[in-house]
Amino acid sequence: MPKVVIFGGTFNPIHNGHLHLVRRFAQTIGADRVVLIPTKIPPHKSAPHLASAEDRLQMCRLAVQKDGFEVSPVEIERGGLSYTSDTLLTLKREHPDAELFFITGEDMFLTLEEWHEPETIYSLATVCAAPRSKRGCTALNEYAEKVGRMGAKTMICNINYLPISSTMVRNAARKHEDLSGFVPPPVANYIYQHHLYSEEQHGF
Ligand code: NAP
Repeated sequence: MPKVVIFGGTFNPIHNGHLHLVRRFAQTIGADRVVLIPTKIPPHKSAPHLASAEDRLQMCRLAVQKDGFEVSPVEIERGGLSYTSDTLLTLKREHPDAELFFITGEDMFLTLEEWHEPETIYSLATVCAAPRSKRGCTALNEYAEKVGRMGAKTMICNINYLPISSTMVRNAARKHEDLSGFVPPPVANYIYQHHLYSEEQHGF
């Protein structure tokens, strides 16, 4: 059974913390394919200073060009709120023989029961998460046990956390600071060439 690792995110923008997480999970799982899926409209949060879907998609492509990972526009093309259950249904229809893994960070994993149609997610994919800290690891394992009783398949991996966030990248871009510690060079170039997260664009 081919193993397909899916990493969904707002990716506003994608950064080295995201890349570290997906690379380590892909390695641990022994992925045959890795697919990044930027959301069209995140269903669970208001996203301030959201770059266009096309820009976020393009930055994902640039970020993983050396990894051989794929970037799917499935949520962007579907439009509307980007429910993970809908995305997994599409992927399962396209690849009925594949075993699907969906990666999240700590915060998102701990809200899994509140996602749209969680039972569909439980039935289609193993939901994978990594903690920010030792305490986070305990919380994730306890929550995994809880949703496991409802039918979820989960995988908690103690991947070391790189303290980078999209907010940090946007703030640094707004101040025209060096982004090389946060994002791969092609993504940094894209942000500056397209004036993303600038005062002019967002009226900070
Ligand atoms: P995001 O902010 O771009 O982040 C993507 C994931 O990367 C998050 O799970 C986040 O962890 C993790 N992450 C961020 N920085 C990290 C770092 N430095 N090290 C390790 N992990 C890091 O995306 P998002 O807005 O949270 O969305 C996540 C996905 O969940 C999307 O595909 C969204 O559609 C899906 N989702 C769906 C529903 C639904 O269907 N109703 C509800 C909620 C989420 P944290 O989780 O800890 O922030």
